[in-house]
Amino acid sequence: MTEENLLYTGKAKNVYKTDNDDEVLMVYKDQATAFNGKKKEILPGKGVLNCQISALVFDYLIKNGIKTHLIKNLSDHEQLVKKTNVYPLEVVVRNITSGSLVKKFHIDEGTRLKEPIIEFYYKSDALDDPFINDSQVHALEIADKKDIAYIKEMALKINQLLIPFFDKSDFDLVDFKLEFGKVDGEIILVDEFSPDNCRLWDKTSHDSMDKDVFRKHEGDLVKTYHEVLQRLTTK
Ligand code: UDP
Repeated sequence: MTEENLLYTGKAKNVYKTDNDDEVLMVYKDQATAFNGKKKEILPGKGVLNCQISALVFDYLIKNGIKTHLIKNLSDHEQLVKKTNVYPLEVVVRNITSGSLVKKFHIDEGTRLKEPIIEFYYKSDALDDPFINDSQVHALEIADKKDIAYIKEMALKINQLLIPFFDKSDFDLVDFKLEFGKVDGEIILVDEFSPDNCRLWDKTSHDSMDKDVFRKHEGDLVKTYHEVLQRLTTK
């Protein structure tokens, strides 16, 4: 892991080249950011917790037939993953109203939706990740129609698998963000699944157990993520 092997530095992870051209190393950082990087803090322990939570979620999805980039965890904060061409899209799935949906439509937070919503956002820090619809994704040649349909189908399938996975540990899965990549003609799930990219509410108290704790100054984020990991491994 040297500076010249660094391929990409993100807000929560660095990605490094490996000796194998088909594989890259993802290193989770302790940095927490919100509001497109405007709020930023180092929270010791966060990287390890996200790496472990994400590994648990990915392992569960893999066992249930979802193809992902995860090869294996190399340490408590490092994962060896398949190198893919990542679509510059954030694929958001929502089960319960919260966040930008509430702001946009002035609706009550915490309403269970009649059916899950899928939204695409175009990944661009400079543009602040704008909403993008299917027709724009297609016309701007970000993904073809078949790939868009497949990504949506996969996102809904992942949602159906994750709702009971989190429910078993007494969490409501409110919403989450996925990313997809293509390798050898196959679309697979990439990036991470952690409380940084989803909303988890305690089923009884409805307390946030995710990055909203940091966004809204609601308490100790590392302690919260630790409880998420503990509940996922013990319940
Ligand atoms: N999300 C994310 N990265 C982003 C934007 C959103 O991981 O750049 C996640 C966010 O944590 C939440 C879901 O996607 O679980 C929906 O986010 P929303 O559109 O409500 O935006 P927010 O209000 O969280 O910025």
